[in-house]
Amino acid sequence: MSEKIHITGLKPAELVELAAELGEPRYRAIQIFKAVHERRLRSFDDITDLPKKLRERLADTADISRLTVTSRYISNDGTRRYLMKTASGNPVETVFIPSESRDTICFSSQSGCPLKCDFCLTAKLGLLSNLTVGEIVEQIIIVLNDVYGVGGETPHGTNLVGMGAGEPFLNFENLIAALEIMADENGLFIVPNRVTISTAGIVPKIHEFAKLENRPHLAISLSSARNELRDKLMPINKRWNLDELLSAAKEFEGSLRRGERFTFEYVMLGGVNDSAADAAELARLLDRYQLSRVKINLIPHNGAEKLDYNSSTPESVERFKSILESRGVSAYVRQPRGRDIYAACGQLAAMDEARGTAAGGGE
Ligand code: SAH
Repeated sequence: MSEKIHITGLKPAELVELAAELGEPRYRAIQIFKAVHERRLRSFDDITDLPKKLRERLADTADISRLTVTSRYISNDGTRRYLMKTASGNPVETVFIPSESRDTICFSSQSGCPLKCDFCLTAKLGLLSNLTVGEIVEQIIIVLNDVYGVGGETPHGTNLVGMGAGEPFLNFENLIAALEIMADENGLFIVPNRVTISTAGIVPKIHEFAKLENRPHLAISLSSARNELRDKLMPINKRWNLDELLSAAKEFEGSLRRGERFTFEYVMLGGVNDSAADAAELARLLDRYQLSRVKINLIPHNGAEKLDYNSSTPESVERFKSILESRGVSAYVRQPRGRDIYAACGQLAAMDEARGTAAGGGE
């Protein structure tokens, strides 16, 4: 692997240090940061406002790009899935989800995932690697350039969700550093208020996240209100059970800003966790911890051949939702996007195929 620095993963202050090592003044560091993150240029040669000598020295020391796009799939609904690989060949997947009001990019924090959630296809990969700061940030740059052209304006800003492959809170430091870089006003300028991170329930990191001054929104994957079932669906529950998780959620609730809520995600598995009794149990659990500033996102299960689960019927999803609502809990059904190209929740498994109709085509 290259000994070079991946410049895309350097914070502005680190870039100032690098510039100093090269005998360059501070303003050069800002110029380079803007070129990489705001103008989204992909090679030092393209930064034509830098002296040629400096460009050459930078290219000797550092890389802008460490990810290669190997395939791109476009869904009938406009969702795009990018399959990329790191310099060491590990798969990275990123999903672009267009919508009328605001586009969303779903990024990955790990290659594969160490958690063994029974209903999730990514779990079948196991953990391949933690993504570096630069590999996290570069995913977003690649997607924006593909959709809007290099440096092109994003028409109505972009939301980010850390809901791709991997468990973000098991790569906490890199995640937080990447978010800081992406929030910088000289760069992508995607502020924490436009970012949501989803965790399967790494309790100590929920505590830590709650204390961050400028933190993104939080979603917690729950999928069952009963320890026995959650142990099976999400084995991480054996490490931190519902009591520990809900206590952390309660503490997190105390850190919410005015008008902010947080989310519990609940994957709807037909005949497994979608009965009227399951809904009532969930409402009771929230009650027990007096969680009031929370909403439930119901996610109909996205199937795949290797997964033993079926999605709940639309009727059971509706029933579940209305039981929650009748108990005063806000619940929403997440519409699946990009199922036809294996881009939907829980379908990211580095598959180099789509389900038939989708347009393929690499770079
Ligand atoms: N590891 C983190 C981030 C992944 S987010 C987490 O678990 O929260 C992905 C979301 O999709 C999680 O809420 C997960 O429970 C859900 N999910 C996983 N597999 C799914 C599937 N096959 N269908 C629908 N949702 C799924």
